Amino acid sequence: MLLIPCPHCGERAQVEFAYRGDATRQRPPDGAPDEVWYEYVFLRDNPRGPHREWWFHHGGCGRWIRVTRDTATHEVLGAVPAVVPPEVGAETGAGAESEAGSREDGA
Ligand SMILES: [Zn+2]
Repeated sequence: MLLIPCPHCGERAQVEFAYRGDATRQRPPDGAPDEVWYEYVFLRDNPRGPHREWWFHHGGCGRWIRVTRDTATHEVLGAVPAVVPPEVGAETGAGAESEAGSREDGA
């Protein structure tokens, strides 16, 4: 089981969180060509190594965080608050985030 360092609650078990997707994807602008939307909606990379992901802490603070996790080892390298929720699920928003209080240096 993963231990995820929620920037609001501290280190908690993975079962308190829901994975909500790739945090590196950027929503295309309105009016972008269909090919760009097709890639955004349907195509996914499968990176090996450190990767940024959106997680939602439903069993704790009820906030979105951005976690950096190594996809090869599952080691969690850090987590930072997401100021505005990402554009997934019912909790949609602009996807902006803050680097303030970054814990991605492993501290
Ligand atoms: Zn939390």
